[in-house]
Amino acid sequence: MRILVTGGAGFIGSHLIDRLMTEGHEVICLDNFYTGHRHNLLHWLDHPYFEVIRHDVTEPIRLEVDQIYHLACPASPVHYQYNPVKTIKTNVMGTLNMLGLAKRVKARFLLASTSEVYGDPEVHPQTEDYRGNVNPIGIRSCYDEGKRVAETLAFDYHRQNNVDIRVARIFNTYGPRMLENDGRVVSNFVVQALQGIPLTVYGSGSQTRSFCYVSDLVSGLMRLMNGDYIGPVNLGNPDEYTILQLAQTIQAMVNPGADLIYKPLPQDDPQRRKPDITRAQTFLGWNPTVPLQEGLKLTIDDFRSRQSPSGTTAAV
Ligand code: NAD
Ligand code: UDP
Ligand code: UDP
Repeated sequence: MRILVTGGAGFIGSHLIDRLMTEGHEVICLDNFYTGHRHNLLHWLDHPYFEVIRHDVTEPIRLEVDQIYHLACPASPVHYQYNPVKTIKTNVMGTLNMLGLAKRVKARFLLASTSEVYGDPEVHPQTEDYRGNVNPIGIRSCYDEGKRVAETLAFDYHRQNNVDIRVARIFNTYGPRMLENDGRVVSNFVVQALQGIPLTVYGSGSQTRSFCYVSDLVSGLMRLMNGDYIGPVNLGNPDEYTILQLAQTIQAMVNPGADLIYKPLPQDDPQRRKPDITRAQTFLGWNPTVPLQEGLKLTIDDFRSRQSPSGTTAAV
């Protein structure tokens, strides 16, 4: 099959491309390199079945493909809040263009949506029929509301134009290739512990997240794409931790001497988050398999291997 991966130079996209290429598909990666890097794709650049196109999804493009994994969008609050209007354009115009492309070539289209569509949830754990508690005018809204519109667009293209859609609601995912300056909690804590500087816990650290290792997530995305169930479906690991527990775990694994310091909790930071994955289990036969300790070890090893002899992390 010929498969388009938008955002393929990023963290999840590049792991997905590894799997698709290994299965023998022809892959086109489309990316504007905002948070993605050619470095993540270096091992495929000379492969005859692989092509990378520098392109912004907010602009139309004509390609001939069988499947589209639409991942293009910065995922870390630091990056998506840097230019919020651009984040909205990416989610709305970018998704519209990719759905227009899917309609024209009759490709199956998978949207990488997010647990953020549930906002600061009043239902716990979150099931797919929960409609969420999202602030429409806050600093996270460009991303949360952008993804909500992207889901709406996908379902309207499905109803109106018979586009064959799949919608995944991805929960916090971590693993090798996260950027050192990504700003997300796992990468921040690992980099801080490796550098021997204090781990920055926002708020009291009592807020929770549930962390999914990237290889599990990629398996879930591929099962969703190649199955019959259109979604939306939660993909995440239901093992829930407080942020303080995460800090202490990484501290113990990397650098027991590192301190923890407390910083203000960002505005609209969700208090609790944990997926109900009954749908993924039932319709996709999917379950995450990598426990946090094991995934963290692989992630820490990756960050360590990127460190230069001077102790600073090499460019990625
Ligand atoms: P990432 O930032 O590493 O990757 C996003 C990729 O999209 C980057 O390569 C970036 O350069 C590219 N991109 C951004 N804007 C673009 C544009 N306008 N045109 C073309 N390319 C563009 O993030 P990630 O963690 O790999 O996330 C991938 C997708 O999964 C995103 O859609 C994100 O919303 C979703 N998601 C991720 C998580 C997570 O925990 N990582 C959780 C929920 C949802
Ligand atoms: N589009 C695209 N590539 C294609 C087909 C469409 O980028 O191969 C874009 C197109 O430019 C438009 C969007 O997708 O902005 C929606 O397309 P659709 O055909 O649904 O709407 P229309 O063009 O009729 O407004
Ligand atoms: N967080 C933290 N220290 C950091 C970065 C993040 O305590 O250095 C917290 C953040 O406030 C949030 C949680 O960790 O409660 C997850 O943050 P992240 O940005 O990784 O993802 P999201 O908030 O989008 O789930």
